[in-house]
Amino acid sequence: MRRLRRVKIVATLGPVSSDYATIRALFEAGADVFRLNMSHGTQADIGARHKIIRQVEKDLGRPIGILADLQGPKLRVGVFAKDAEDLEEGAKFRLDLSAAPGDASRVQLPHPEIFAALEPGASLLVNDGKIGLRVDDCGKDFANCTVTVGGTISNRKGVNVPDVVLPLAALSEKDRTDLEFACELGVDWLALSFVQRPEDVTEARQLARGRAAILAKIEKPAAVKAYDAILQVSDGIMVARGDLGVELPVTSVPPIQKRLVRGARAAAKPVIVATQMLESMIESPVPTRAEVSDVATAIYEGADAIMLSAESAAGKYPVEAVTTMNNVALSVEKDPTYRQVIEASRVVRRETIADGIVAAAREIAEATNIKAIACFSQSGQTVSLVARERPRVPIIALTPLMSTARRLALTWGAHCVITEPQERFKGAVISAVKAARADGFAAEEDMIVVTAGVPFNVKGTTNILRVAPCDERLISRVDPE
Ligand code: PGA
Ligand code: MN
Repeated sequence: MRRLRRVKIVATLGPVSSDYATIRALFEAGADVFRLNMSHGTQADIGARHKIIRQVEKDLGRPIGILADLQGPKLRVGVFAKDAEDLEEGAKFRLDLSAAPGDASRVQLPHPEIFAALEPGASLLVNDGKIGLRVDDCGKDFANCTVTVGGTISNRKGVNVPDVVLPLAALSEKDRTDLEFACELGVDWLALSFVQRPEDVTEARQLARGRAAILAKIEKPAAVKAYDAILQVSDGIMVARGDLGVELPVTSVPPIQKRLVRGARAAAKPVIVATQMLESMIESPVPTRAEVSDVATAIYEGADAIMLSAESAAGKYPVEAVTTMNNVALSVEKDPTYRQVIEASRVVRRETIADGIVAAAREIAEATNIKAIACFSQSGQTVSLVARERPRVPIIALTPLMSTARRLALTWGAHCVITEPQERFKGAVISAVKAARADGFAAEEDMIVVTAGVPFNVKGTTNILRVAPCDERLISRVDPE
């Protein structure tokens, strides 16, 4: 089974997409990576979804990426006696530490560290920014506010505090428990919410101990400022436009998205553009023109992956949403302007032997009638470098490690194939051409480029480039052992 597009699709699972039939249908429609959202659902729910994904993977014989998204230090109000209250603009509203159910005059905000950091004049945004509060005065266990934007506030709604760098640990107690749980399950990626500093990422990395790759969600003004340092210590990035658009003016999100995508591609690390991509498809079987255009823009910008949130987790048309993304990708990627844009933004950074080899592989492949670049990789690093080139021909990533193949599910253009560990060069080339033919990338009379590292099965040794015929009888005759 082979995808006909290069950008990857991440689909969040939730109540409407937790059974085998739906998860399989989502994969078949085009989802390459599934996101398990630890903010919703119990560990038992998450564990059950994980198990089903691995079953689909086994049944269909294609590696699937799983990304566990940790809730992070998300602030929430407590509960109300009447579940919800309407707050009018200009009214007074108090936040405090009391667990007593709230009413129209007050509610609990169970975070003493926030009261310690607040100052009069700071703004608080509740329920995705729909309600605005301004702090008039505050102490170590309360904040008296004026409602600046009215609306309905209800149980456990989220609170954003954009103006203040919060003295919050990157990982709450819940996050630590969830992180260990997800690593033990065997997820491939961990996404960290509300990252503020590079240390937040390094802390999670220490806890993960190599069991999962670490993806930083950029959704705080502080993270946008510290982006270069955060990118350096992360394995991947998410442009988390939902919270970003609450914490910063929504109009600043598109330029930030462009900067983040470019930076991640330059660093050869996968970047996901997320949130509200096909929002109307939660309720409707067809997207709006603007949504299609938004998805297309992310692809033209060179994102590795585009993501569905509620559309696939809680909407009425989860499979249609994946199909829509797939179709937008097919349409964009065959546009000659897409190739021009992608090639104009190619990073020309040639520092290592691997950089040189992947650049040469692309040039040879594009200048001649070569059908694919097949790339042997242990860690996936060489595949990421080939992907950074955004070659016109397909990328076949060959690895003996299932964990590497699953992580690469997020990387632009990488079609992963599990191979036997290689011992000899000739055998490796034969495996590559067999994979290329089996998955429909090339026919017997075609040629592919193969990159590999000798000695085999060692990280970071890419040092060989071979233009190989896809007829293995020809390889046997001419290749060195
Ligand atoms: P969330 O993250 O869906 O976990 O909030 C993505 C975003 O904020 O855009
Ligand atoms: Mn978020």
